[in-house]
Amino acid sequence: MLDLAIVGGGPAGLTAGLYATRGGLKNVVMFEKGLPGGQITQSSEVENYPGVCNVVTGMELMECWPKQCMKFGLKHEMEEVTRVKRECNGIFTLELLSGKKVESKAVIVATGSTPKRAGFDGEEEFFGKGVSTCATCDGFFYKDKEVAVLGGGDTALEEAIYLSNICSKVYLIHRRDRFRAAPATIERVKNNPKIELILNATIKKAYGDNMGLQGVLIDQKGKEIDLKVPGIFVFVGMNVNNEVLKQEDGTFLCSVNHWGEVIVDLRMRTDIPGLFAAGDIREFASKQVVCAAGDGATAAINAIDYIEKIGELKPC
Ligand code: FAD
Ligand code: NAP
Repeated sequence: MLDLAIVGGGPAGLTAGLYATRGGLKNVVMFEKGLPGGQITQSSEVENYPGVCNVVTGMELMECWPKQCMKFGLKHEMEEVTRVKRECNGIFTLELLSGKKVESKAVIVATGSTPKRAGFDGEEEFFGKGVSTCATCDGFFYKDKEVAVLGGGDTALEEAIYLSNICSKVYLIHRRDRFRAAPATIERVKNNPKIELILNATIKKAYGDNMGLQGVLIDQKGKEIDLKVPGIFVFVGMNVNNEVLKQEDGTFLCSVNHWGEVIVDLRMRTDIPGLFAAGDIREFASKQVVCAAGDGATAAINAIDYIEKIGELKPC
């Protein structure tokens, strides 16, 4: 049986692993379905991680995290966790996509969040064929071409700036006339001659053929705009990845709020003893790398405390 299972290998999960193993836990496994690093590896520019003075990409920021975090004995298994259950004796069972089951005394859920879909016609049909949620991954396909970005938050604005360095023009489409991004970022967008704002506008439809996207039809207060672009980048917010907490009967293992975010206290404890949540998945998360890392450390420190106090768990 594991002492601690960590689900997710983003900034929260990695940091939890570092603190748990460096804090003395011997049997700690981090289950990450892909490569460790998390969603920040998709960002083209990170300039608010303290101590990293020069602007780096998300990939560069995360490069040495797994190495450092595994230095003290954290093990990484490239596995998707499908469900976390709690048995009658307080032991947790993790069900893996591979069919395996793993038992653990405590669990930290750090599964983060994933990009939302905007919901316009053709979004799914052309996803991966012109519709994208990752500028770092797909921006280069549109070198010296015109593209569109949808959204009005930090992600949309930052990625619009990034794309403006590659593409000939970026149309930034937003449903209101006010952005919810950082003021400094808004200024940079407004001063960027390659970014054209299309405000109070929604996308009605993406169209194209079997070769890919050819354009989007936009509704701007009743006026239709036909924007002929081969690429549209959708940055309209994130959904929390809470599926692992869903039980067979559809309820969640622990309490979640209206948006499905896990409710925790200041120690990252859920209302189920031994179950912790850290990073973007939790209620009131600031959704920043530095905050996710802090949560991971807090959760691990309190998981160590929990494991020390429960002693040996008996079979049901
Ligand atoms: P995540 O980073 O989402 O990591 C969760 C991990 O869990 C993923 O690797 C995922 O594969 C894994 N996982 C999920 N479900 C399972 C499962 N069932 N089994 C196994 N593994 C699973 N923050 C900043 O501080 N500065 C920025 O400049 C910044 N820019 C951003 C730009 C973009 C484009 C995006 C999308 C986000 C940005 N953020 C930024 C936010 C930041 O990336 C997140 O707040 C942070 O990554 C959250 O960390 P996390 O560990 O909670 O979750
Ligand atoms: P966000 O802040 O939730 O913004 C989503 C944007 O998309 C909003 O402008 C919203 O419009 C719009 N939108 C939502 N649904 C839509 C739809 N169906 N159709 C069209 N537009 C839609 O999401 P985010 O930008 O991904 O940021 C997520 C979190 O990560 C935030 O907390 C953010 O601060 C953080 N983040 C931080 C940084 C950084 O610190 N540098 C970088 C990236 C992300 P409305 O404004 O009208 O609601």
